[in-house]
Amino acid sequence: MNESELIKRYFLRENKDECIKLGIGDDAAVIQPPANEQLVVTTDTMVEGSHFTAQSKPYDIATKLMAVNLSDIAAMGATPKWATLTVTLSVIDELWLHSFSDGLFSYLDRYQVSLVGGDVTKGEQTNVAIQLIGIVPTQKELRRSGAVLNDDIYVTGEIGCAAQAVRILYENNQNPSHLHENSILSAEQKNALYAPEPRIEVGRALRDIATSAIDISDGLLHELNILCEQSLLGAALTLDQLPIAKNCEMNLALTGGDDYELLFTANKEARDTINTIAQQHNCTITRIGTMNLTTKIELFYENKLFAMPKKLGFDHFIGATDGK
Ligand code: ADP
Ligand code: MG
Repeated sequence: MNESELIKRYFLRENKDECIKLGIGDDAAVIQPPANEQLVVTTDTMVEGSHFTAQSKPYDIATKLMAVNLSDIAAMGATPKWATLTVTLSVIDELWLHSFSDGLFSYLDRYQVSLVGGDVTKGEQTNVAIQLIGIVPTQKELRRSGAVLNDDIYVTGEIGCAAQAVRILYENNQNPSHLHENSILSAEQKNALYAPEPRIEVGRALRDIATSAIDISDGLLHELNILCEQSLLGAALTLDQLPIAKNCEMNLALTGGDDYELLFTANKEARDTINTIAQQHNCTITRIGTMNLTTKIELFYENKLFAMPKKLGFDHFIGATDGK
């Protein structure tokens, strides 16, 4: 099979989006964005050996790749619209491509994102990357830098489920980056690890409500630290309220990462509206703290200061991070 047959068979689907003037098949795609909308552009890569292994299920690689990209768009308060895909493969393995394509389109279809182009190249290791383009009304994007003094801090969903799953796999001498079916994990843990649910709807609903937002990929404290630095503020968290996954230790939940939940801030007057958004979207949203002038993060548990974990989260080049 040659390259263009491969693209046709596994990546070319009919697009119904009127904004797409030209999709897959030319030198580049042509898109006419709707009036009064800004483009929001993100990209995320997954590399064999770093994010997955040769034994990983291609379906899981694709769902995780889509979920992490969608989560970035969610954290901007944007709507995902168009994607390009770069695939580097050592050989053309049709079983691999079939499964990868199924995983990819399961998310593209669910979130109504059109694949408008990409690239296929040959290389020693498998490498997949998505560029995702979303739209948001002009000046309505949610930035990391927008938190205001005395704002409430919130988190969506539960945190620690993916980190807990990784810990269980390690304890059973299994490599979490295999991203494969695993009977040790519950269905919920498997989904948390391989197919997290990006908070697109909630992110969009928060557009006019939140003052800042970030998605939790590398640990709640790591992301809160970024949000504080960019907003030039500090934060106090009340850990008694933290929505932690079942059986997950506090420090693991605070630093484990891979949650893909939204961490955001909002004015105290928005509390009722945020409760309504949570109900409308069937998503728990928990108030966990307050922004303050300290320029550091302080943790409280049962009204006492709680020791800051040594490492705040994860960084690919330096491993676990201690923030400042
Ligand atoms: P070129 O040689 O001009 O880069 P290609 O043969 O690489 O063109 O690609 C032909 C068309 O197929 C282009 O529209 C490109 O965007 C699209 N395409 C290539 N690879 C992929 C892919 N993995 N997924 C989706 N579309 C792709
Ligand atoms: Mg090309």
